Amino acid sequence: MSQFGRLVLAAKPTPYWLDQPDAPPVREPLLGDTACDLAVVGGGFSGLWTALLAKQLHPERSVVLVEGNRIGWAASGRNGGFCEASLTHGEANGLERFPAEFSTLERLGAENLAAIEATVAKYGIECDFERTGQLAVATQEYQVEEFRSVPGGFLDTAAVRAEVNSPTYLAGLWDKDGCAMVQPARLAWGLADAGAQLGVRIYERTPVISLASSADEVAVRTWSGVIRAKQVALGTNAFPALVKRLRAYTVPVYDYVLMTEPLSSAQLASIGWQHRQGIGDSANQFHYYRLTSDNRILFGGYDAIYHFGRTIRASYDQRPATFEKLAGHFFSTFPQLEGLSFTHRWGGAIDTCTRFCAFFGTAHRGRVAYALGYTGLGVGATRFGARVMLDLLSGAETELTSLDMVRSKPVPFPPEPLAYLGVQATRWSLNHADRNSGKRNLWLRTLDAAGMGFDS
Ligand SMILES: Cc1cc2nc3c(=O)[nH]c(=O)nc-3n(C[C@H](O)[C@H](O)[C@H](O)COP(=O)(O)OP(=O)(O)OC[C@H]3O[C@@H](n4cnc5c(N)ncnc54)[C@H](O)[C@@H]3O)c2cc1C
Repeated sequence: MSQFGRLVLAAKPTPYWLDQPDAPPVREPLLGDTACDLAVVGGGFSGLWTALLAKQLHPERSVVLVEGNRIGWAASGRNGGFCEASLTHGEANGLERFPAEFSTLERLGAENLAAIEATVAKYGIECDFERTGQLAVATQEYQVEEFRSVPGGFLDTAAVRAEVNSPTYLAGLWDKDGCAMVQPARLAWGLADAGAQLGVRIYERTPVISLASSADEVAVRTWSGVIRAKQVALGTNAFPALVKRLRAYTVPVYDYVLMTEPLSSAQLASIGWQHRQGIGDSANQFHYYRLTSDNRILFGGYDAIYHFGRTIRASYDQRPATFEKLAGHFFSTFPQLEGLSFTHRWGGAIDTCTRFCAFFGTAHRGRVAYALGYTGLGVGATRFGARVMLDLLSGAETELTSLDMVRSKPVPFPPEPLAYLGVQATRWSLNHADRNSGKRNLWLRTLDAAGMGFDS
């Protein structure tokens, strides 16, 4: 085993954000039957925002939220904590897929991030919200040219290393406003408390098994009873969709993260990073990293692992080969931090769809709404998705329901074994492109032409 393999083995195999001494106690499960105006399935950001916004809009509406496990235990409590304004998994993807309405989506995304900040302040949610922006770094020459062509924010080698001192950086692009850093588990816990304060009834450890609709309600069947709901919102992310026809649109892709011990002031001084931006490098297989409030570094990304048959398993949250690789990449990025330890290692499932940003719709004659497919960029965008679901359920034509992004769907993934083979071919090709100045092979160009892709 390499030195990095040994180093990561000493880390706790659990998400740092959730591993807090003051984590909230589990809420009671739903036992028996109940009724409500709106049932929300899923206690991640999607479901939590939907329940909170529903109550804010119509306090008289009765809202029940059911979570199969714990609030925020899944992607929402184990991500990088980059809360971005982008609703489209970045500008390039948004411009390519929705050119006519991209400026509207940018405005809506900026409003969405501002509203998240305002909600955090209004309910006093202590989630270390820091509007630091983010710094994209170029680590290969061809990326420098791409950066130079973007208007505003370009940093040359000296300027980017003056910000954050890594020998791997060749240039940077600093977006000062479009991203905040959060402690995501605390945001999820805080949103749950805010919803509960407004009267949302929250049940944990209550998996929903099926939905069945009649003329005027939906029966939401859990293991222990039935919720009779006038309307339902689904925020189930990478987990098997309760509306079966939606399962073709996403695949669960595992993404992995390391957390270091807190840096001493001398260690922090050796890398600079005074503005505490989130950082991402710019290859297809990219890393993202950021500081926590106590100056640890979260370092994640690069590998994106898909398991045959869309399987999700707790054992997939750990992947020693990826952790070892990430540790090696960490010390190449910051060699001056040699000797630093990792305290936590974990992974989690992302709901990847072929257009890399969420899609929306209704089922059961308009009584059930869904928002899925955030593909690794849902910390901020899920609030927007929650608004879309509520607008769809209202039946009214609104600015959001008129968007092409809301009315259109991604290209579905093929059934197995084609999905697995296709993902592996795409991963191989993306890796190949990263080693060849970003040049895309015939397979990637064919997918591009078909509007399909694979990302995390
Ligand atoms: C390692 C990692 C790093 C990431 N980094 C970032 C980042 O830095 N920035 C960013 O924007 N995004 C990031 N993401 C993605 C982001 O975390 C997600 O897009 C976002 O949290 C999705 O929220 P959600 O509520 O839709 O899903 P989840 O948080 O997965 O919540 C879905 C919930 O639904 C519940 N559920 C599912 N089915 C049922 C059922 N039948 N009955 C009851 N409950 C059910 C699940 O138990 C789960 O709690 C990352 C994801 C991972 C895994």
